[in-house]
Amino acid sequence: MADSSQRPNLIFIMADDHARHAMSAYGSRINETPNLDRIADGGMRFDNTFCTNSICTPSRASILTGTYNHVNGVTTLNTPMDNGLQTFPKLMQAAGYQTAMFGKWHLGEGTAHEPTGFDEWTILRGQGRYHNPEFISPRGEEVIEGYVTDIITDLTLDWIRDRNPDKPFAVMAHHKAPHSGWEPNEKHAHMYNDTTIPEPETFWDDYSTRTAAALAAKCRMTDLKDHELNVDVPEGLSESDEISWWYQQYIKDYLRCIASIDDNAGKLLDYLEESGLAGNTIVVYTSDQGFFLGDHGWFDKRFMYEESLAMPLLIRYPDGIAAGSDCSDFVLNVDFAPTFLDLAGIDIPPEMQGTSFLPLLSGETPVGWQTSMYYRYWMHRDGAHNIFAHYGVRTHDHKLIYFYNDPLDQPGAFGPIDPPEWELYDLTADPAEINNVYGNPDYADKQRELEQELARLQGKLGDDPHPS
Ligand code: CA
Repeated sequence: MADSSQRPNLIFIMADDHARHAMSAYGSRINETPNLDRIADGGMRFDNTFCTNSICTPSRASILTGTYNHVNGVTTLNTPMDNGLQTFPKLMQAAGYQTAMFGKWHLGEGTAHEPTGFDEWTILRGQGRYHNPEFISPRGEEVIEGYVTDIITDLTLDWIRDRNPDKPFAVMAHHKAPHSGWEPNEKHAHMYNDTTIPEPETFWDDYSTRTAAALAAKCRMTDLKDHELNVDVPEGLSESDEISWWYQQYIKDYLRCIASIDDNAGKLLDYLEESGLAGNTIVVYTSDQGFFLGDHGWFDKRFMYEESLAMPLLIRYPDGIAAGSDCSDFVLNVDFAPTFLDLAGIDIPPEMQGTSFLPLLSGETPVGWQTSMYYRYWMHRDGAHNIFAHYGVRTHDHKLIYFYNDPLDQPGAFGPIDPPEWELYDLTADPAEINNVYGNPDYADKQRELEQELARLQGKLGDDPHPS
């Protein structure tokens, strides 16, 4: 029986690539998410939550371990996580929690990488399919008929219903949606058919003040044809009309996939209310990173720019968080694990680099709370998106990015090797990050200060600056 003296339950819902500007709780101009808004309205919305490396597998590793990728070793998509690492589910399980993991794992498969620390797990094979997906569990492989977002929610709900009610539980429901390969379910297949979704303000960004990295990125609307959007372009469109046409194709399917996440979040919340579990259950909604929704003319993530860097984070906990609150303090993906342990009254191991943000949940900002964050994306020109490796620092008002363009990472490069380049943004004057002011004399002091802060964070976190 749930009562306030019992340790809280945790339901961690994580989407894949759900940008916060596609949620009405964050003021979306393009969709409504009434059920996700219930989490925000009943709890706290975090407005400055960032990932430390905006790509699926690395962010997932940071969330579980509370460490940065240079420490947990999961620097890229191709570096699966060693499941011998300490994680918050393992510690919760050891402390008497019932634990489970359903949905997208994407941290590797096989005995060295499959989920550990869970009493029960059923994960998608690889990236997973939207329809009739293939799952792996300790019992082997099976195809489950249906739509992936419904199945993951049903697995989660069934497990909660069947649990031992005398012990607290922690369950992770990791959606595949709205990751690329966007396939809506039948219910939402025709949503937005008669609507034109507005293009974002920076849709026609010409990158004129930016480094070579922005120009080289292959994630513009017309690159969608190489990324699983299998549609025929109508003939006779002008170049700009074709770009706009791709945006409509992409964004509508993306939002249709989110509509199903929203429905399913509602189903979970309804169950918590009906079962009397709502008060003592912490419901977290987040995404492994953000996503460009046509911003700067792009889809995808990886860059340290705001739309990709920012994660949605909503936490509802009726017994512990005031309804309808919000928080603008910095929270990072490495802070999730220590916070969940703290909420459960479990000691945080010293190897976790993140910090518990438990005080923020009651509206208190601890003295000395972080006001800057370190970011590093490692996959130099990897794969189809051709995004350059970079690291940088973000404060409340500014962002400094260094594209180090390691010549050793460019063995097959044709023509000249990309030289290292910097970008600096004044987020107060230029929140859309259109004007790179690196080298502008007006920002000389700020630039020096941020370079020092970057070096300080690298030293503190134990990441080596690039030799360039
Ligand atoms: Ca992702």
